[in-house]
Amino acid sequence: AQKTPYVPLTAETLAPQLSKVPAIADRVGQDPQDWKVVEVGDGNLNLVFIVEGPDGTVIVKQALPYVRLVGDSWPLPLYRAFYEYHALVREAERDPGAVPQVFHFDEDQALIVMEFLSPHKILRRKLIDGEKVEGLGEFLGRFCARTAFRGSELSMKSAEKKKDVGLFAGNVDIPAITEALVFTDPYYDAKMNHHTAELKPVVADLRANAVLKARVQRMLMKFASNTETMVHGDLHSGSIMSTATESRVIDPEFVQYGPFGFDIGMLTANFLMAYFSQPGHRTPQDLGAYQEWILSVIEETLKAFDAEFLFLWTTERTGMLYPASLFEDQGQSSEDFCRDLLNEIRQDAMAFCGIEMHRRTLSLAHNADFETLTDSAVRAPMEARNLAMGSELILRADAIRSPRALLELARQFN
Ligand code: ADP
Ligand code: MG
Ligand code: MG
Ligand code: MG
Repeated sequence: AQKTPYVPLTAETLAPQLSKVPAIADRVGQDPQDWKVVEVGDGNLNLVFIVEGPDGTVIVKQALPYVRLVGDSWPLPLYRAFYEYHALVREAERDPGAVPQVFHFDEDQALIVMEFLSPHKILRRKLIDGEKVEGLGEFLGRFCARTAFRGSELSMKSAEKKKDVGLFAGNVDIPAITEALVFTDPYYDAKMNHHTAELKPVVADLRANAVLKARVQRMLMKFASNTETMVHGDLHSGSIMSTATESRVIDPEFVQYGPFGFDIGMLTANFLMAYFSQPGHRTPQDLGAYQEWILSVIEETLKAFDAEFLFLWTTERTGMLYPASLFEDQGQSSEDFCRDLLNEIRQDAMAFCGIEMHRRTLSLAHNADFETLTDSAVRAPMEARNLAMGSELILRADAIRSPRALLELARQFN
């Protein structure tokens, strides 16, 4: 097909531009005059439009050639939409129903048309508003386990996996953001950093800790040069949309092949930050119960991850690794070795978790859990607890031998 020059859409130009695309017109309505278009992008990077018509509603997500949060001074390649599309396809295969259905992809326009999730709401918002979601931990633990296992050589043939690693290796500028913003910038006076002024002594201590920084660099090495599985890469509570009873995962443009424990570690960090920020969002009467609910979701997530991973290990080990020919066929169980692997994954996850807790308070992109608390005298002590627990997780990840141990640690730092 001939390349059509990229044009960023606006709420005004979208209908005339896209009315000839059957994937949209067939779902929204044939006459673009009847379409109602609203731009709702609240993320850091992309345009997101809700397109509503007499026959239905779809989401149109289009990449911008720069970082939306910063402006056109920070260019970012459009090709990330290509990787987001391919990630969505794989996630849908590996955990059916977990991500929005994709209706159409236009590589030249860096544009994905997908299912409109409604009445879903961004999970981070729900956590700030004190709302609960049934089955959340089970869903998220399963999603992480299924995508981790089925995107690895425990499940995939070696050749198939290498080919896929090659495909996603092209997504270079996006992981580079994570390498800098998450793993590096929090630990020195990087240009785009910002943090609450009251944290100054805490931050100085953290940056004076060479052992801590070296441990983080070790985790960066794993993140950058290990291709165990396809990771979502940006799995925080702003990349999950939920109703009271149902959840989905969105926004995998940070996809890459990476360590098994990365997504579940980032995710856990975002629940812990929701936990530590709760005193700023709840009444004293509601606080304790809601904080404990958040901890129960963390526990459920980690437990469901292990249970599902072990289940897939025993039922779907079709890849190159730990073949039955070496174990079961010789009358030997391999389950203990799966548990060993899960322990290693949890240790990595705990360290990634601590790093994410640091970067969301010290680096460029903070989160609304803390940021909506505009009184720094209220916010600073919570952020300080968050930073302290983060350091503990980075330095002593191996001390967290069960989900319960993590919850205990959170209660201690709270
Ligand atoms: P970014 O990559 O810029 O962070 P996201 O994919 O996270 O973009 O989308 C930004 C916002 O658009 C989300 O926070 C959500 O409010 C909305 N959104 C994105 N995808 C959908 C969807 N499939 N259904 C409903 N709303 C969506
Ligand atoms: Mg997003
Ligand atoms: Mg984003
Ligand atoms: Mg995104």
